[in-house]
Amino acid sequence: MDEKNNKSVFVKKYSDVSIQTPACHPGTPILSAHFRFDTDISELFPYINATVEDAKYFDIPLYIRFTLDGVMWALYPENASAVPFENHSQAMEHIDRMVRFLNGLYTEKESITPNHKKHKPVPVIDIYKVLPGTNCKECGFSACMAFAAAMSKEEMSYDKCPWLKTPEKEQLLTNIGVELS
Ligand code: SF4
Repeated sequence: MDEKNNKSVFVKKYSDVSIQTPACHPGTPILSAHFRFDTDISELFPYINATVEDAKYFDIPLYIRFTLDGVMWALYPENASAVPFENHSQAMEHIDRMVRFLNGLYTEKESITPNHKKHKPVPVIDIYKVLPGTNCKECGFSACMAFAAAMSKEEMSYDKCPWLKTPEKEQLLTNIGVELS
């Protein structure tokens, strides 16, 4: 997509598109997409946070996660990631859809009250303390600490570690603020 001649649009083009199997799901048919925007889109994050029901807005690093048309997005100031896709053309359709979404939001933002509230992730160390610490790799990560970091960023569900699927462990996770659903 290239809308560089259209001066009324915020995101005029994107580049560096990469569509491939996610590193955390080797061997699966799922594809993820990554690309760069031609401008810093972070000024729109509070407006996404205000209007998208499942949006979670993070401080460090600065990014926002949400679902749009069944696709999970992570938007950073100048790039984006999305998953899952079945094929290349489906991914490209959703990337174009995201650019239209952002440009639509930009034109409407004067009528939206921005929400600057940030989501506070559960600290990595708190999650790590609930894990067995055996580094058994059954979750696909090389170590429990890496799994805890992915859980803290909400990139990984607790149930990918088989040792956490007990009532006792689930209660401990709930106690530290992990959402199990
Ligand atoms: S499956 Fe659980 S115990 Fe094994 S490495 Fe992953 S987080 Fe650690």
